[in-house]
Amino acid sequence: MHKKLFIPGPTEVRKSNLEAMATPMIGHRFPEFVDLFKETVEKLQKLLYTNNIIFISTSSSTGLMEAAMRNCVSKKVLSCINGAFSQRWADIAEANGKVVDRIEIEWGKAVKPEMIDEKLRTGEYDAISMALNETSTGVLSDIERIAEVMKKYPDVMFLVDAVSCMSGTKIDVDKLGIDVCLAGVQKAFALPPGLAVASISDKAMEKAKSIENRGYYFDFLVMKKYYDKWQTPATPSISHIYALNHQMSDIIEEGIENRFDRHSKMAEYVRKWGNDRGFNMFSEEGYHSPTVSCINNTKGFKVKDLNDFLATKGAVISNGYGTLKEKTFRIAHMGDTQMADIEELLSWIDEFLSK
Ligand SMILES: *Cc1c(COP(=O)(O)O)cnc(C)c1O
Repeated sequence: MHKKLFIPGPTEVRKSNLEAMATPMIGHRFPEFVDLFKETVEKLQKLLYTNNIIFISTSSSTGLMEAAMRNCVSKKVLSCINGAFSQRWADIAEANGKVVDRIEIEWGKAVKPEMIDEKLRTGEYDAISMALNETSTGVLSDIERIAEVMKKYPDVMFLVDAVSCMSGTKIDVDKLGIDVCLAGVQKAFALPPGLAVASISDKAMEKAKSIENRGYYFDFLVMKKYYDKWQTPATPSISHIYALNHQMSDIIEEGIENRFDRHSKMAEYVRKWGNDRGFNMFSEEGYHSPTVSCINNTKGFKVKDLNDFLATKGAVISNGYGTLKEKTFRIAHMGDTQMADIEELLSWIDEFLSK
């Protein structure tokens, strides 16, 4: 039996999107591809409230994280670390020979603007990296307040991993001044894994021009050269782009704001459910994620036992990340998951808890 995915990626994919992936193949230099690519990009620009260019990359999100580090960091990057994925930014920077300075924040807490301001004041950095929605801890940092700080430092690149919240919460890229805002399609976009997207500011493109060793597959300048023809340098996963284009139409039809609203309502519902049963959130008050809830396992059950039970119903949730494996459990409520799905899932968890 297929288990409906309530894990924070990959998420459950609707049949019509799977079917879009089965569209008969075309060549990536055909005019049909140009139309497909252009349409998809324009819809993504709408989703992100941006006029920036949008790269569509045949890689997972990590590929575009590496791209951002290689193309936007010359001397030193400030990495804000409050969980496993923000940590990944720092690891990538280091692996690419960049100098990394870290702000280490207790897991479960949000990145605070003051911490960034204090560091950037030194003038040592040419970029900062953060995970807007830390999937390992269920924390959504306050991007608006962080963006206010970033406005004071216009030369510092603002690199944002929005992997598990893009299309699940509003990210007003132009207003916030985000230079690279990236995500993979297997999270809140609810598509099969293997494709990633990123908005790239003019500033980031200018910065890339000044940087050597940008690599080959992810060289922003080469990607832009092809982008200007609505193409990609190498053969992309055309099937994925068909699915993304299809999904973006559905997202726009649902209403972008309605979609964000649906996500926050599902998140609220899960938190209230947890609270009513004596659980509490691992994430800091005021910074709970709209797409994934990380709940303290105060009842001390084995997450594996819960999942064994859920498997009989045809569902699966996620244990905690790393050392939080049994201390927390995570319920994803993102993508095309509806309130009714969440209600059903939680009723099953209630059944498990009452045994
Ligand atoms: C899943 C995830 C990643 C890694 O994405 P891949 O697509 O597996 O490379 C990075 N950051 C966050 C916040 C994530 O949730």
